[in-house]
Amino acid sequence: MINVTKTFLPPQAEYQAVLKQAWDTGWMTNRGVLVKELEGKLQTYLGTSNIIAMTNGTLPLQIAIKALGLQGEIITTPFSYVATTSSIVWEGCTPVFVDIHPDYLTIDETKIEAAITNKTTAILATHVFGNPCNIEAIDNIAEKYNLKVIYDAAHCFGVTYKGQSIFNYGDVSTCSFHATKLFHTGEGGALFCKPKYFETMFAHHNFGHDGPEAFKGLGINAKMSEPQAAMGLAVLPYMTKIISSRKQAVKKYKNVLIANGLQYLKVREGADWNYSYFPVIFDTEEKLLIVKYRLESQGVYPRRYFYPSLNQLPYLVNQKMSISESISKRILCLPLFFGMDDELLSKIIYGVIE
Ligand SMILES: *Cc1c(COP(=O)(O)O)cnc(C)c1O
Repeated sequence: MINVTKTFLPPQAEYQAVLKQAWDTGWMTNRGVLVKELEGKLQTYLGTSNIIAMTNGTLPLQIAIKALGLQGEIITTPFSYVATTSSIVWEGCTPVFVDIHPDYLTIDETKIEAAITNKTTAILATHVFGNPCNIEAIDNIAEKYNLKVIYDAAHCFGVTYKGQSIFNYGDVSTCSFHATKLFHTGEGGALFCKPKYFETMFAHHNFGHDGPEAFKGLGINAKMSEPQAAMGLAVLPYMTKIISSRKQAVKKYKNVLIANGLQYLKVREGADWNYSYFPVIFDTEEKLLIVKYRLESQGVYPRRYFYPSLNQLPYLVNQKMSISESISKRILCLPLFFGMDDELLSKIIYGVIE
């Protein structure tokens, strides 16, 4: 069975060799040597600073909203994973959707201003499939209306924009290291922020502790554990290979599928993309379903990312988002992972264009 992705697993002995350090110290969590080593290596690899490793990619979003003191309305995208919206609702704020750009699939920056009210406190946008939002435009709007900017950069491991890590943009950026993501720690994630927010973000992810016997304020437990960090340290040395293998697969997909008139993600100018997903957009949902069932009958399981459009979540008052709803119905992510061979790629490609 071929799924939309396949978790990259390093040789087991390499994972165990890293994990042995945790055994030697007898330390399984509470920011042991492995979490600190992983944070250091990630900062070097990514070209970032102010990283906090966390236990998944959802808590950083919730912590960002909480620690920035956001209330009222948060402008967001309907085309993302549910965690983007659920985090806003979980923190007691109201998501106000702004439709997406039909080619880039990120929030349409030209429609943001019209959605701002006197209750708006922030913009929470997703660099969907690793494709950067229009960062300059969003920054300008945020400055004009005094809004905070959070980027859900869950898909963005290794993406750079205008020569620097995408995680350096916004007041806060978050990433997911879930097993289905490009770089992973099984479950895991990280928060990146402007230096002035580091202390408060850090305290929030560790119960609000200010040393062992004092508290700065409210917090939660979002700490990454040592076994999670060990997985990250064992996977990290393979990232260059993983990305270049995916790049080859994307090249093959693109050559044939684009020649057959299928729409593909338009990567923003200035971005060095990470080949994290391969979405194709059909002209009708009917065609998508035919392709999906045909591939499934051959043991290949693509996924409908992202479907449904998040404005249609059952716990929200529906706000109509025509472009996101239309694309959600017609977009399918094809399998993409390290080490796909030509035979598999051909089988998928011909399953789609037949
Ligand atoms: C995966 C994902 C998340 C959540 O990350 P977890 O590590 O699974 O909690 C958030 N936002 C987006 C866009 C995602 O794809």
